[in-house]
Amino acid sequence: MESPVRKYMLQLLEETRGQDGGELADYIPELAKARPDVFAIAMTTIEGRTYSVGDDEREFTIQSISKPFAYAAALTDRGLDAVAAKVGVEPTGEAFNELSLERGTNRPKNPLINAGAITIHSMLAEPGSSLEERAERTVEFFSRLAGRHLEMDESVFRSELETADRNFALAHMLRNLGVFEEHAHQAVAGYVAQCAIKVTVRDLAVMGATLANRGVHPFTGEHVASREVARQVLAVMVSAGMYDASGTWFSNVGIPAKSGVSGGILGVLPGQVGIGVMSPRLDRQGNSVRGVRVFNKLSQDMGLHLLDAGIFGSNVIRSVSEEPHETIMRMQGVIQFSGAEAIMHRLAGLECASGTMVFDLSRVTRLDAMARRMFLEGLRRLIADGHRVEIIDPDDVLPDPNLGGNVYPVQRESDRG
Ligand code: GLN
Repeated sequence: MESPVRKYMLQLLEETRGQDGGELADYIPELAKARPDVFAIAMTTIEGRTYSVGDDEREFTIQSISKPFAYAAALTDRGLDAVAAKVGVEPTGEAFNELSLERGTNRPKNPLINAGAITIHSMLAEPGSSLEERAERTVEFFSRLAGRHLEMDESVFRSELETADRNFALAHMLRNLGVFEEHAHQAVAGYVAQCAIKVTVRDLAVMGATLANRGVHPFTGEHVASREVARQVLAVMVSAGMYDASGTWFSNVGIPAKSGVSGGILGVLPGQVGIGVMSPRLDRQGNSVRGVRVFNKLSQDMGLHLLDAGIFGSNVIRSVSEEPHETIMRMQGVIQFSGAEAIMHRLAGLECASGTMVFDLSRVTRLDAMARRMFLEGLRRLIADGHRVEIIDPDDVLPDPNLGGNVYPVQRESDRG
């Protein structure tokens, strides 16, 4: 059965392609050479299924999206308190490359601005480690999050290092204020190497799904970070992930996120999915124009706003009984995207079973718009495959289940007393 998730994503990709406003970042000369039309979307569930469309195999440099992952590495290596002693968690309201320090302590305000990220990078690997050792720790940690070996883009690295005066200035100031002891040049070079690690949107989605899944990798099962670390990283993404647009982003999209100057956006919805979107043209705040648009649509259509809570994932499948002539799937709770996705996955596994499929919705509280769309698509496929489809829906949570051309599933009476 063709996945309705992928079909939806393709439609979204096509709808958004027309948005060609914005400019490429050019302060790193190598980034100005990017093909502006590249566009890709990927999504990985915490159960480890990835859906992707567009230029999903194309690698780009991770840039600032490296910051939350490097923060996770430092928290893992040094512990939450040691990191908090050096870098705060407050939004700045200033540009990402300002020297935004907290009064009194001189801590960079958060790990997602450059001052904070350079400090965090200086904390990777043991104090006094060489540039190579820190870069190695970074690549190794990022590769574990992605579940594959990642590499650095040498030409972007060199190009940024040659023009990194502002980051050198920040590092010298930080060192002068005693925020870190590492050699300023080495700290910046390491940080720039971290930003030059190459990923695809699929990598971002998987790395995000690891954070969404409390630090446990959705494919490898490895505990890459602890639950506390994952939560801490997502918390700063909420307040400071989208530069000066973080407040608007969170109220409209409601997904902890981080963007980067090469045009990527990472979104992480705890307990549900990791999302990666890439298109290089940036708006005035430095966020990918198409990326912002895609996330706004995804969040609305799939009901992904974090502050809209419900029962998630395969919890919605209460039981499946396979009898000789019929299969009954009983569902429960609020069915949102991840719940519907789990149902579709289960249905794909039952595909060959013949006879009647009965869906009992009597314990379902609500089906969100995207879930309804996915579910009806599933019913349509089953009928096309020759099944008889019946639903038990005493509370009318699936009103007017028209499957197209006035085909409806058969309504079965509820046996609820
Ligand atoms: N490497 C870039 C820098 O430090 C990353 C910036 C970004 O993606 N916002 O300028």
